[in-house]
Amino acid sequence: MNYQKILEDIYEEIKPFAHDGKQADYIPALAEVDPDQFGIYLSLLDGKHFSLGACESKFSIQSISKVFSLAIALSILGKDLWQRIGKEPSGTAFNSLVQLEYENGKPRNPFINAGAIVLADVLLTHLENPEEFFINFVRTLAGNPAIDYSTEVATSEQGCCYLNASIAYLLKHHGNLENDVERVLHFYCLMCSVEMSCKDLAQAFKAFARSSEPFSHAGVNLTISRVKRINAIMQTCGFYDEAGEFSFLVGLPGKSGVGGGIVAVCPSKYAIAVWSPRLNGRGNSIMGMKALELFTTYTTESIF
Ligand code: GLU
Repeated sequence: MNYQKILEDIYEEIKPFAHDGKQADYIPALAEVDPDQFGIYLSLLDGKHFSLGACESKFSIQSISKVFSLAIALSILGKDLWQRIGKEPSGTAFNSLVQLEYENGKPRNPFINAGAIVLADVLLTHLENPEEFFINFVRTLAGNPAIDYSTEVATSEQGCCYLNASIAYLLKHHGNLENDVERVLHFYCLMCSVEMSCKDLAQAFKAFARSSEPFSHAGVNLTISRVKRINAIMQTCGFYDEAGEFSFLVGLPGKSGVGGGIVAVCPSKYAIAVWSPRLNGRGNSIMGMKALELFTTYTTESIF
């Protein structure tokens, strides 16, 4: 298969949509990003890789960080995690409060903000130095020691995260946060602020595509069973209230973030990451969704 030619053909085909949508601006630091950028990186499990555009530019991974915090929390708590967080699609916006209220403070899944705020709480309770542990976990997964938090983006988000604060207080009210609300919000925003490139993300997510050689770092073991479960949640809940549409169009487990990144995996074959900051109304990258839809169409390599 000529993957490089496929990526080039895809880029030509999606160019007409290059100026549709706009970048997230509810976090002031994200509003300053040049919206007209595009990069894609394909990493095959046999070690080959193919790329195009700004695939080595770093961007804010935002909600993609939730996959990393889920992997750590699941390794710490095992199935007890599901007493505090559900595993069903929410059908509501990623920062919605409504469902959390009528479901008595148990978030529907780990990839909506409420669920990821509980994940942050689990890490704070069980890790001695959660900030350091988290970033080292991501660096090791991606094989890049230069990956880091952006304190600028984290501070920018924390200065205006009124909805997330409301979610955190509601969780606290229902006894589903063990730590101080401000401490949890600070760590949550910091994890969202991590900056990675498409290359870093594709490299990191190979661990979720691989079924032999399970990844292990400092006691976090991505066993075959855990990888299966994390992929299942990416498939059903990885794209806000557009998870069904992504499944329908692309047919891969994956996760998006409001920084415009999307990463997806094809078990036993590859991990692919794409970045373009302009989002659709549901918070997913327009060029990114189209690129991945065409990729699985042209290669016929999806899980279905
Ligand atoms: N930090 C963002 C927020 O909490 C993450 C949202 C996202 O990427 O979905 O609003």
